[in-house]
Amino acid sequence: MGVLTVRKYGDPALRRRAAPVTEVTPEIRRMIADLVDTMYDEVGIGLAAPQVGIALRIIVASDESGREARALVNPVIAAHGGEATAEEGCLSLPGIFAPVTRAAWVRVEARDEEGRPVSIDARGLFARVLQHEMDHLDGVLFIDRLDPVARDRIKRKIKREGFPADSHRAFAL
Ligand code: ZN
Repeated sequence: MGVLTVRKYGDPALRRRAAPVTEVTPEIRRMIADLVDTMYDEVGIGLAAPQVGIALRIIVASDESGREARALVNPVIAAHGGEATAEEGCLSLPGIFAPVTRAAWVRVEARDEEGRPVSIDARGLFARVLQHEMDHLDGVLFIDRLDPVARDRIKRKIKREGFPADSHRAFAL
């Protein structure tokens, strides 16, 4: 097990479309353990494999209680509804926060770390985390979901100032 380096905005690894996992092997399980270790080390509540340079469709996220990490392999949104807007951050864009509108609830189908099929009904923050992490699997960042004016403001700020060295990392995805 180990802590991996989280790639930052500008790294091409964050813009690739990740490939499906064909089989949940011991190597995939080790990868999941590393993702969980990295998420906790970064004080994040979710992490997607592309954020550590692994182009596979794997995400990890704190569950509703915030006590246990869930790993989802090849997750897809089977159903969704409603609309909710809330502030979001990302471990790959440290110190940047902005309100993002997403589905209020989602049903996600995936495989767990044993390769068994799972179906999760999520709402609230957990639904947001799952949608944010699944976007990473398609090379999409939360700033892509902002209106162009807000997005350009953030891009200019990053270009001008870079990322704050000691940014508050909690609540980032
Ligand atoms: Zn993120």
